[in-house]
Amino acid sequence: MVEQLIRNQQVRGSNPRAGSRKWREVPIKSGTGRYLAAGVCLALVALLAVGAGLVRPVRGAQPVIIRAGEHERHAVAITFDDGPSPSYTPKILSLLKQYQAHATFFVLGRKVEKYPGLIKTMLRAGHEVGNHTFDHPYLTKTDQLTREQEIETTGLDLDLVGCPQKDRLLRPPYSAFDKRLVSYLDHTHKHLVLWSIDSGDWQGLDAATIVNNVLSRVQNGSIIIFHDSDEKDRADRSPTVAALKVILPALRAAGYQLLTVSELIHGKKP
Ligand SMILES: [Zn+2]
Repeated sequence: MVEQLIRNQQVRGSNPRAGSRKWREVPIKSGTGRYLAAGVCLALVALLAVGAGLVRPVRGAQPVIIRAGEHERHAVAITFDDGPSPSYTPKILSLLKQYQAHATFFVLGRKVEKYPGLIKTMLRAGHEVGNHTFDHPYLTKTDQLTREQEIETTGLDLDLVGCPQKDRLLRPPYSAFDKRLVSYLDHTHKHLVLWSIDSGDWQGLDAATIVNNVLSRVQNGSIIIFHDSDEKDRADRSPTVAALKVILPALRAAGYQLLTVSELIHGKKP
């Protein structure tokens, strides 16, 4: 809208009828001088707009914070946090392949460095990999430098294993965020991805309860959160794997497309 306003100002400025009185009051004799004056004016307008923070990179139609997809589309996005894990991620990848599902994995940078092969396997299978920070801190309790290092170091680790940089997604640990984090993500062209259905697997629930948590609430556009590990690699994710053996075929039988977050939101491949 701001760009449109500036464009309108430019059009009005070059319209001889609209600007005739002003041109007469301040006559410019030389043709070159006139172009020079117009150029200086436009540059000043642009500088003022940038200075006021009005002109910003185009982000597209999507907001910075994403909680769910469109309700009109019969599709959901399954997501996994805290991995990758050599114990559970391969089992989950195998199930996703069996049920023609794409998923988004929000990974920890220090585990990307430890298990780069798992990230490459995810990408080869058409899954999406998002950023879950390097070491899983509360980003709302860290200083600005630390939080940027947590995010950007993980981004570099992902670059090194060939993960697409464009439209990089961040899920903050503990879903904790504040205005400063949102502003940082906005300016670095990232999206903050939350969720609309919590499987509850992080609470140590049994498989039947995890299944019920998901299937009783699922609807078009749901973003569902699971965990293929935990921060310390200590949690037993067998109930998550067992629950997926029921949830994935049930969602397919109900006709849901199982997509990555980017596919769900943008309608395209990550
Ligand atoms: Zn986490």
